[in-house]
Amino acid sequence: MENTHTSENNIQGRFFDTHAHYNDSAFDGDREEMIESCRAAGMKGAVNCGTDYGTSLECVALAEKHDFLYAAAGIHPEEALKYSPAAIDRIRELLKHPKVVAVGETGLDYYYEDSAPREIQKENFIANITLAKESGKPVIVHDREAHADTLEILKQEKVPEGRAVFHCYSGSAEMAKEIISHGWFFSFGGALTFKNARRAVEAAAAIPLELLMLETDCPYMAPVPLRGQRNTSANIPLVAEKLAEIKGLGVDKIFEATTANALLFFNIK
Ligand SMILES: [Zn+2]
Ligand SMILES: [Zn+2]
Repeated sequence: MENTHTSENNIQGRFFDTHAHYNDSAFDGDREEMIESCRAAGMKGAVNCGTDYGTSLECVALAEKHDFLYAAAGIHPEEALKYSPAAIDRIRELLKHPKVVAVGETGLDYYYEDSAPREIQKENFIANITLAKESGKPVIVHDREAHADTLEILKQEKVPEGRAVFHCYSGSAEMAKEIISHGWFFSFGGALTFKNARRAVEAAAAIPLELLMLETDCPYMAPVPLRGQRNTSANIPLVAEKLAEIKGLGVDKIFEATTANALLFFNIK
């Protein structure tokens, strides 16, 4: 099988990182070299995800600088106190940019006791989903310890088939069945390789290949054996190998399918 191929915009590579944060200060010392080294390691492209207006702008700037980088603009649940109709209007403007391919990341995060109140997180999540529906772009969903409410809101807001992804999916195989029935996507990163990842492994086994994508969430979530180190897209093959093992498929098949899914999901030609 071919490891590289060329599309209209001349992007080459084996894998697509659907969720990165190359704007993060962890990359301040070597951002450009790091991005280029990921490219050399087989990264076809990546979507950098904003967490508020400022970081969304940074992601747009990176996308303007590199043809193989794209951006998502949105308000993360941990930043939900920044939510306001005016803040949403500013994100709406960013969504007009041709390289902003999704809304996000957004969702619900009930992990930290002192994060934004749940009612505000929900209001923010719904406003971000509304932007996604208006713009026709997909929504990147962050769901941490908030499975029932996240699913409830996506259903209530009638997010269309294929227009949402649960990033770093951490729900059960049972919940995955319901997400599959709505035709929404899942992406997996380094957490799939962790020793205690039994639940994620069971879920990944139950999800059809057509709904799976790869991600890093870098600089966080480095896969085993690099757990705890700064993560980069060059580590995606470690996740792909784990997924290949779970699915009983060759790693090339995982690269091929997840890359095709990502290009389809983000409508990247
Ligand atoms: Zn997240
Ligand atoms: Zn993230």
